[in-house]
Amino acid sequence: MKILVAVKRVIDYNVQVRVKDDNTGVVTDNVKMSTNPPDDNAIEEAVKIKESGKATEVVAVSIGEEKAQETVRKALAVGADRGILVKTEGDLEPLAVSKLLQKIVEKEKPDLVFMGKQAIDDDCNQTGQMLSALLNWPQATFASKINIKDKSLEVTREIDEGLETIEINVPAIVTCDLRLNEPRYASLPNIMKAKKKPIEQINASDLGVDTSSRIEQTRVEEPPKRKAGIKVSSVAELVQKLKNEAKVL
Ligand code: AMP
Repeated sequence: MKILVAVKRVIDYNVQVRVKDDNTGVVTDNVKMSTNPPDDNAIEEAVKIKESGKATEVVAVSIGEEKAQETVRKALAVGADRGILVKTEGDLEPLAVSKLLQKIVEKEKPDLVFMGKQAIDDDCNQTGQMLSALLNWPQATFASKINIKDKSLEVTREIDEGLETIEINVPAIVTCDLRLNEPRYASLPNIMKAKKKPIEQINASDLGVDTSSRIEQTRVEEPPKRKAGIKVSSVAELVQKLKNEAKVL
């Protein structure tokens, strides 16, 4: 069993994101970048499956600018065997990313593709679903537990009503939830070892995919600032204010 894991380079989740002065996007210069958090869960799960003897190879793939190599390298430091960087100019929309991933899947022929449930920069939650449609493979989204069977997978999914367990055949796409596992930290020796693991570089333009934008982003704005709160001296005053000022009671 071979597992391909898609890892995206995004602004680190601890960074206070700032909108550019001309409202065309957010500031990324000199900003800390990291792996999209659920993609860390996807890599962790693939590595755990390999460690349990149920997978033979874990391949990490990232699509982005040259610097996305760091994201692939981090996946190698926590246990992926080799990496692929599909080089692009600037950010791509989920449809373009899924078409490029489709080409990588056709080349690599994995049994499973693990991805994050959502990228924290665009919040699209689309790439896994689109890739599944393009490949005509079954998908299990928002996975919080994965049980590998012979030629199928049992996946528990986080849904609004609670937990849903489904069984899907391999090959399949799984998008991973943050509750799936606790991603490990890369140890120094493993960071050093990862430097020797191979990363294949492919130019997106060589994959024969139309990556042109379908969406025009018109304006990016900061959310309105929260107004300062007030302190009340008693429960009675709170109830009175909720009733007469906020009018929510
Ligand atoms: P999204 O549909 O943009 O919310 O992204 C969902 C998932 O698709 C992410 O968690 C990643 O696993 C994968 N993905 C999206 N964009 C990229 C990218 N540029 N490179 C690698 N994986 C990506």
